[in-house]
Amino acid sequence: MMFPEIRAEVADLHKHLIQWGLVVWTAGNVSARVPGEDLLVIKPSGVTYDQLTAESMVVADLDGKLVEGDHNPSSDTEAHAYVYRHMPEVNGVVHTHSPYATAWAALGEDIPCAITAMADEFGDDIPIGPFALIGSDAIGRGIVETLAGRRSTAVLMAQHGPFTIGKSAKAAVKSAVMCEDIARTLHLARQMGPLKRLPQTDIDKLYDRYQNVYGQTKQGSR
Ligand SMILES: [Zn+2]
Repeated sequence: MMFPEIRAEVADLHKHLIQWGLVVWTAGNVSARVPGEDLLVIKPSGVTYDQLTAESMVVADLDGKLVEGDHNPSSDTEAHAYVYRHMPEVNGVVHTHSPYATAWAALGEDIPCAITAMADEFGDDIPIGPFALIGSDAIGRGIVETLAGRRSTAVLMAQHGPFTIGKSAKAAVKSAVMCEDIARTLHLARQMGPLKRLPQTDIDKLYDRYQNVYGQTKQGSR
């Protein structure tokens, strides 16, 4: 079996999607780039989360075609593969239909950077990406075109849901968890009145501190 450690890591990371309430049934997936290879490891299509094991993960190429596995790769594999082809710094991708982030996606509204936790983690508004149907590279292209050159590691694909990216698969999972948490909080706030975006200078200071100082690591947690 190819890449047993990466398979085990990706299988394990799916537990966070359950733990933090981001997914129901089989509708969400984590992938990781295989370092140094034009390959990725991703959840198989249609397998429920309690049946995910290292062995059931699939290996696909960066065109989304199956390389090794007993099941077909997730139907979102083409989108993940497109991101890896066009964003060499990205090593992990996550997609869910988590309810609050998907509610913002349904409206087609960016989530404004209105709280410090969002400035820390995203340093940015969480942008809406274009509406795109599954079955071509339109979703992948929409993700890349929306996130290229931005700080945000999350994009809300219009009337669909969030895709998140990271320097590791774990970082992409963290982005998905934080995106949902922020989407919920700012939904609640908006029931009480209009949202106020933080001043850009404060967003910049918070982001720089969290990414570069917090946690004592040079690159923060990304
Ligand atoms: Zn989806």
